[in-house]
Amino acid sequence: MAGSLAFMNEELDRMKREGLYGNIRSLESPQGAAVKINGKEYLNLCSNNYLGFANDARVKQKTKEMIDKYGVGPGAVRTIAGTMELHLELEKKLASFKGAEAAITFQSGFCANLAVIPTITTGEDLIFSDSLNHASIIDACRMSRAGVIRYEHSDMDDLRKKLKEHAGHAGNKLLITDGVFSMDGDIAKLPEIAGIAEEFGVIIAVDDAHGEGVLGRGGRGIVDHFRLHGKVDVEIGTMSKAFGVMGGIVAGSAVLVDFLRQKARTNLFSSALTVPDVAANIAAVEIMEAGEERVKTLWENGDYLKAGLKAAGFDVGKSETPITPVIIGEAQAAKDFSAKLFENGVFATAIVFPTVPKGTARVRAMVSAAHSKEDLDKAIAAFVKVGKEMRVVK
Ligand code: PMP
Repeated sequence: MAGSLAFMNEELDRMKREGLYGNIRSLESPQGAAVKINGKEYLNLCSNNYLGFANDARVKQKTKEMIDKYGVGPGAVRTIAGTMELHLELEKKLASFKGAEAAITFQSGFCANLAVIPTITTGEDLIFSDSLNHASIIDACRMSRAGVIRYEHSDMDDLRKKLKEHAGHAGNKLLITDGVFSMDGDIAKLPEIAGIAEEFGVIIAVDDAHGEGVLGRGGRGIVDHFRLHGKVDVEIGTMSKAFGVMGGIVAGSAVLVDFLRQKARTNLFSSALTVPDVAANIAAVEIMEAGEERVKTLWENGDYLKAGLKAAGFDVGKSETPITPVIIGEAQAAKDFSAKLFENGVFATAIVFPTVPKGTARVRAMVSAAHSKEDLDKAIAAFVKVGKEMRVVK
């Protein structure tokens, strides 16, 4: 007789009782400014499809052509049979786009963190990690044998203090931070981090998942935004957000990329991105390289939404990017707010503890270059209507 799975029911029941059980909506349309759910159109303020590429005609056309040429699957792990010329073409384009010597792709942004952190650290080493880093960084740190030291979020004094405390440590030191913190939209203090890292002889890695396609010239990312080329050792990223597709990126020196290609377990023991992923990502980079219009529209849309919500009296936090958190306070209130927005045709998710601190539950609005001004006006009107009903604003 197999073991009992009763504990799963108990846990799921607990989650339901405590309002932590996620209701995952099923979409009947592509990701876009609007999405269809249960036969009805909703304004979409949930996706990370920053530049609107998830359903772009040029991206789809290129993908169809490449499927005709290469099929769909990579066949095996890359080291055995799975590297197609298309994978290498994408990596070349990514390196050139980001102004790095080389780049390597992984199956997802999560896999890119799992590829970097445990592979470049050993039990002799220390990792300094921002306290609000993404779950994939936290898990990758757990997989590493290195000691992990958390510093207070973006607190350079605390970082310095902790580096000083461990100044005599013999092994390597790795500092890892999100580039853009996705729950608040704030940007890592990368110029200061780079200076401190140089002073203490620390390797720096930045996970630019929400900066790729958003920050920097034409969306070239956080390193370009701060003009820190050559000062950040490892740039990690994802193609699941602004690129509109799927896939992780690591960009940096040729030796870093060679090292990961030879040693990262997500490269050695998991198959490569599929042909449609790679083709669509190539098309997305080509569009980004051709001009900055989409990125400009994204920022204009973010500024417009934030200004409209702020003028209506909402607390939109301290976001420095198009990510727009609308802080409500208690978890249940944020969930009710999101449910009422949905009744009013707007799909925007509530984010609650433990993802954000207690008392700062929020509805997070993600804007896209695909949104029109009318879409954003509709969003603001819905927030104001629900905000008045729930007495969040006057
Ligand atoms: N890192 C960060 C900072 C992220 O925000 C995300 C996506 N939530 C990831 C990694 C994971 O990316 P992916 O969805 O491509 O696995």
